[in-house]
Amino acid sequence: MGELKVFMLIGDPVEGSLSPAMMNAAFRALKLNYIYVAVRVPQKLLESAITGARKIGIAGLNVTIPHKIAVMKFLDGLDESASLAGAVNTIKNSRGKLLGFNTDGEGALRNLEERIGRVRGRKVLLLGAGGAARAIAFSLLCAGAELTIANRTLARAEELAALIEKKLGKKLKIISMDPNKLKKAIADAEVLINATSVGMRPKVNETLVTADMMHRNLIVYDIVYKPLRTRLLREAGKAGAMTIDGLGMLVRQGALALEIWTGRRAPIKVMEAAARREIGDVIG
Ligand code: NAP
Repeated sequence: MGELKVFMLIGDPVEGSLSPAMMNAAFRALKLNYIYVAVRVPQKLLESAITGARKIGIAGLNVTIPHKIAVMKFLDGLDESASLAGAVNTIKNSRGKLLGFNTDGEGALRNLEERIGRVRGRKVLLLGAGGAARAIAFSLLCAGAELTIANRTLARAEELAALIEKKLGKKLKIISMDPNKLKKAIADAEVLINATSVGMRPKVNETLVTADMMHRNLIVYDIVYKPLRTRLLREAGKAGAMTIDGLGMLVRQGALALEIWTGRRAPIKVMEAAARREIGDVIG
């Protein structure tokens, strides 16, 4: 057995997180003497948690709601993925220096491209302008997709569009969540991505888009993974559209984090099987 290393997920809440099962299964498959634990860290304890993690030599962290943005000011450096997205979901402890990364956008992009091929030149409508949507927007644009963003709070989408123009020199279309505007944008889109929290447990019957607003050539990707079969995906099924659930993104963002920490290739299949077992939806 090699050196013992400890990895942590911090967030609030963290109960029911799939990451410990997924990461510990990966460490076992790679025969690493590593352990991953989820720790609930309320907002007021974030700074002490980061100071403590640095002092006791926690090897790496994942960061989830509500700390992805707030954590940045306690770190020693940011990778381009984190500075572009303006949020951190992965931290690597490199000889006492804490470096922030963001693997959400790349995780979503890899998952999407594995399923539908290259996004370059394809028209994508992205719902949301929160933490996950921001990371996904940057990754999609860097991969050459043509992006429109719809958000409930228009000012937040406008802020994101201004940031994208400043950082990438790309202009994008912004629309409100008005159903008529959404329907028109969907008619013109090849891919619809939900990166809002609408449809997430406990409000599993909510959706921003219904079957009558979709078409059968549409690809509908919902990053919400609790539940896996969201109302949006059920509506997409009724419209005859292709559907992609949020588990693939979860696994890939975790796999990229593991690769940043260990420099080893992540055992994706092992991680996905562990996450599905945990979510109660065993493969096969
Ligand atoms: P966030 O930063 O809080 O952003 C939430 C987004 O949802 C905002 O755009 C917000 O719009 C929108 N929203 C919330 N309630 C709404 C409503 N009733 N109607 C319309 N829009 C609404 O959250 P996040 O970190 O981006 O996470 C979003 C979702 O993605 C969560 O369900 C999370 O579990 C999931 N996620 C999945 C993965 C994965 O690996 N599959 C990774 C990260 C996140 P406003 O700006 O108007 O408030």
